[in-house]
Amino acid sequence: MTERVDVKTGYYCNNWCRFCVQAHNRKYGNRTTQEIKDSLAEAKKEGVTGVVFTGGEFTIRKDALTLIKYARSIGYTQVMLQSNGRMFCNRDYVEKLISAGANQFSPAIHGSCPDVHDFLTRAPGAWHQAVSGIKLLRRLNQRVITNCVIVKANMRDLPRIAKLLVSLDVEQFQFAFVHIMGNALENKESIVPIVSMASVYIKKGLLIGIKGRKKVMAEAMPYCLMQGYERYVTELYIPDTMVREKDMWIKDFEKVRRTQGKMLFSQCKDCRFRLICEGPWREYPEMMGEDEFRPVPGKVVESKREVLDNYDEFPVIPKK
Ligand code: SF4
Repeated sequence: MTERVDVKTGYYCNNWCRFCVQAHNRKYGNRTTQEIKDSLAEAKKEGVTGVVFTGGEFTIRKDALTLIKYARSIGYTQVMLQSNGRMFCNRDYVEKLISAGANQFSPAIHGSCPDVHDFLTRAPGAWHQAVSGIKLLRRLNQRVITNCVIVKANMRDLPRIAKLLVSLDVEQFQFAFVHIMGNALENKESIVPIVSMASVYIKKGLLIGIKGRKKVMAEAMPYCLMQGYERYVTELYIPDTMVREKDMWIKDFEKVRRTQGKMLFSQCKDCRFRLICEGPWREYPEMMGEDEFRPVPGKVVESKREVLDNYDEFPVIPKK
């Protein structure tokens, strides 16, 4: 059964990130309160118990508290807010979000210091706001799960970002390889890093999190670029998810990712991960070619479970 619905509440935002994947949609504005309530009710009928409110930026909506309360009133037990994190520095507001029923917070941190984060978000002060927000949420004993989009400007900063997140005591952090759409497409020459080079820094960052006893993962990074860190591939853990956008209702997001969003290559037929791998977002090889994705030899891995259960071959602390 589908566990979670990802409700896109619209496209307005108080940042203008250089890599924003939704930038080309901003002209469509925000969905109405009623439209979002209808989406929540429809998904609930399918037995879904968790909702992630995404945007744009959900926390700048005037009806944010109303929508959270509504979700809880019709039986959602898990309400996650995906956010740029800036509004989480306001104690009064955060307390209201919690009282309304939000119980998982997913702010984004794209740099270990204001220079990198504020440059990427084009919002002076954004790093201080998001970091203060995480500190506040942790003081209030809330679950914090962060995301960081991997781009040229922060690739080498990933280990320092990991150190920061361990020190902030987040529950989990994810590094997500940039999806080349929206502003990332506009700015692709200055934004898109070489994925095999990024993987070196991703692994260093993940190891810092693993040693700090945090749940860590990397998204849109195929197994051939995650050797030694296979069990930290995000796609192993993404719950069955529906996505509700303005005029779109995706009931099986994994299928759409596999058939439309991502791609494999002819050489993948010789790879042991070919049955479980989604490959990279297809815009990456279209821009940079497919030579970095080299088949991994060995016994074919039949299921995601096999990676998670086989501690000898895929250990929790990666082998040197
Ligand atoms: S199936 Fe292809 S993209 Fe996936 S890990 Fe193997 S070589 Fe890489």
